[in-house]
Amino acid sequence: MNWMEKELALFADASNERYLRDSAVVPDNPGYTWRGNRVLLNLASNDYLGLARHPAIIDTIREALLTEGGGSGASRLVTGNRPLYGRLEEALATWQHSEAALVFANGYMANSGVIRALVGRGDVVFSDQLNHASIVDGIVLSRAEHARYRHNDMEHLKLLLNKHRDKRRKLIVTDAVFSMDGDQAHLEELVALKQEYGAMLMVDEAHSGGIYGKRGEGLCFKLGLHHDVDVHMGTFSKSFGLYGAYICGSRTLIRFLVNQARPLIYSTALPPSLVAGISTALTLVKADHWRRERLNSASQLFRSSLSDAGFNVGTGDSPIVPIIVGENERALRFSEALEAGGIAGIAIRPPTVPDGTARIRFSLSADHTPKELNDASAQICKIGLQLGVLSS
Ligand SMILES: *Cc1c(COP(=O)(O)O)cnc(C)c1O
Repeated sequence: MNWMEKELALFADASNERYLRDSAVVPDNPGYTWRGNRVLLNLASNDYLGLARHPAIIDTIREALLTEGGGSGASRLVTGNRPLYGRLEEALATWQHSEAALVFANGYMANSGVIRALVGRGDVVFSDQLNHASIVDGIVLSRAEHARYRHNDMEHLKLLLNKHRDKRRKLIVTDAVFSMDGDQAHLEELVALKQEYGAMLMVDEAHSGGIYGKRGEGLCFKLGLHHDVDVHMGTFSKSFGLYGAYICGSRTLIRFLVNQARPLIYSTALPPSLVAGISTALTLVKADHWRRERLNSASQLFRSSLSDAGFNVGTGDSPIVPIIVGENERALRFSEALEAGGIAGIAIRPPTVPDGTARIRFSLSADHTPKELNDASAQICKIGLQLGVLSS
């Protein structure tokens, strides 16, 4: 095992070793987190709508836990498929105006399992260079050819579509909102290309579900493209404040996945109490439009204040706001200074982002007040000046 120490030393030399650190709940103060021995403003959580500690969700989970027990005991295809699942899936399909829905244990398993089910040897997957790692892993598992196109570069995608015209099945897959940049995919163009080339289109709404649309349906729905997306994926781990994921699509697709998606077949069903909690979270996601409004206006203000100060915040307009600083070490020092100043803002380094684009990734929540975000933004600018990320 000596090789491990050597590889770890290489990570450390490149300011790129990761550590697990405790983050604890701050009672009665949902926008904050304990880290080390301090309370920090939490600008590093994906609990966008502030639902993670919602009392109605907690009550549902507690009640279901008492009647249903802790674990589901088996895969859904064996004896783990409690009626709670079917009810949730019906509600999801209605919400998304799709024929059917299927719940997975998490987004990673949904993406990796579904892509593997849809394509295989002799097929091709066209995937944005900045797509989430779970999509990349699904492509690798599938053994289909991986045609990676430059980020949001539709000309490059077209070139690759032409090159692979003769492949058996073609799948175009993209994040709707990119997780480390907060910018959006060019969904209208992707739909046009999928139609032109006879490809399937899969969209991952992990960072847009709950956030866009009158009832939080997501970006595809907001743009009126939901009927043109063959495989709609979303998660319960971000704006729903819980854990789990879903696929929406045709009845045929869902029937096929029940037969072919290995994470569904070979893994134990989510705890029933959690499935009950997700149903309550869905009701709140649909009804509490004020959370979206609050989140989106806070995001715009926060982003423009950092951008006006001179930071490179990329081109997005979502609750994900990066400050791109370049070198790993610089991002780490920035993150440490933020922590000393009372803010949790995590350094994101390669391979999560391309080399030379290390960054601080802020993610906002409906829990934050405008005053908290104003103060945070002033503090971030002060640190940016001290570290030379901003010039005075
Ligand atoms: C977080 C994320 C996932 C994985 O979802 P989990 O439920 O956390 O496993 C998938 N895709 C994207 C774009 C994500 O950001």
